[in-house]
Formats: sequence, structure tokens, C-alpha cells
Amino acid sequence: MIIIFLGPPGSGKGTQAKKLAEDRHWPQLSTGDMLRKAKTEQTAFGSAARKAMDEGQLVPDQLVIDLIGARIEMADCANGFILDGFPRNLPQAQALDQLLAARRKTISAVVLFQIPDAVLVERLAGRRTCLGCGEMYHLVNFPSEKAGICDRCGAEVVQRLDDQADVVMKRIQIYHHSTEPLQVYYRGQKKLLLLDASQGVGLVSRELMGVLS
Ligand code: AMP
Repeated sequence: MIIIFLGPPGSGKGTQAKKLAEDRHWPQLSTGDMLRKAKTEQTAFGSAARKAMDEGQLVPDQLVIDLIGARIEMADCANGFILDGFPRNLPQAQALDQLLAARRKTISAVVLFQIPDAVLVERLAGRRTCLGCGEMYHLVNFPSEKAGICDRCGAEVVQRLDDQADVVMKRIQIYHHSTEPLQVYYRGQKKLLLLDASQGVGLVSRELMGVLS
């Protein structure tokens, strides 16, 4: 199965993608995670993406299309994968359709994480991320046991530059402007499934299992 998780930053699609990936043994392909890794490792991709990412803008389409094109060639994607954070605009969605068609594959479903902007702002302002393994925390709803230290790997837990209030507002605006039109695109392909993402993690997981079945 090839599943796309579509939704604004902070809607919980990364958390749900991780859970589903572990459950079904499908890889989670997060362009945000791939780009952050490339940035930390100071690869050419990472340097090209750095400024746009820190400012909350989208990185150039061809860069993420090439990243995903190379990733889906890997053996672990043979039986399916979850796309988390890609595509984010119409040109990326069209490029994905072409990449898949060339491999005689097709998207099984697109899950839309629906959530009001006000909830996103509150979630993202309190979000903290592990520099080591990428585990997410929230200052109020899900703090790490020791402040600033990851429970899972012991690395430092920090606020991402792009989770700061002004950048968050920019990312939400870009979502409405560039990514939201994909709802129409995938509804037209009869692939769109709706999910109420404003609930707690457990309830969203349960609803996700329901819509996917
Ligand atoms: P995310 O963790 O998915 O919120 O992504 C973090 C940042 O990475 C975004 O704000 C963008 O700068 C960049 N990014 C991730 N995925 C894409 C994409 N599909 N297209 C363009 N930029 C992306």
C-alpha cells in the first residue's frame, strides 16, 4: 500500500506515520526528517535546503522530488510506504504520480488530517524535538522525564527553529496556500479520506485504523 498523510504542520501526521510504520512494517518517508538529516550532515541537499527550512518556506520542488524518487527505489519500499510531508503542492503531486506510474504503482489512499489553526499554534509552540532520534515532546501535554533530555536516546531536546511562533504562522499560511489545494486533486482521484486530527493521539490512531480499513 502507498499512503499519503496530508495535513498542516503540527497536525500529528508524523506521530501517526511512525506508529503505522511500526505496526505494518512499511517505511515512513518523511521529507522533513530527510532534509533535517541532510542539514545536520551538511550534505549538498542540506545546504541547499537550510535557508528555506529555517524560514518556514518550502524547499525547491525538484530537490524533494529527487529525494523521494531515490528513496522509493530502495528495497524496503517494495511492499508499500507512507509519505509524510510529501507532496506539498500540485507540481510535487503531479511529479509523484509520474514517478509511480513509471514503476507501475499507484497511491492507495490519501489521509487528510483536519484540525483548526488555533490548535496547531498551541501544539507547535510547545513542541520540542530530540536532536538525536527525532522523538517529539510537548512542554505541557507530553514532557520528557528530565527537562531537555530525550527519554529514548538521551540526546538534547530543543525547540526547532521553525517551531518558533513567527515561523509557525508562516508555515500554516503556506499550508493553506500551497498544500490545501491537493485536497481537490486527490478528491478528484477518489483517494481522499478525512480524519479528525484535533483529538488525542490514541483516538486519532483508532480513527486512522478505521478509515484505512
Ligand atoms: P516538516 O517536518 O514536514 O514540517 O518539514 C520541515 C520543513 O522541511 C518544511 O517547513 C520545509 O521547509 C521542508 N520540507 C519538508 N517537506 C517538504 C516538501 N515536500 N516540499 C518542500 N519543502 C519541504
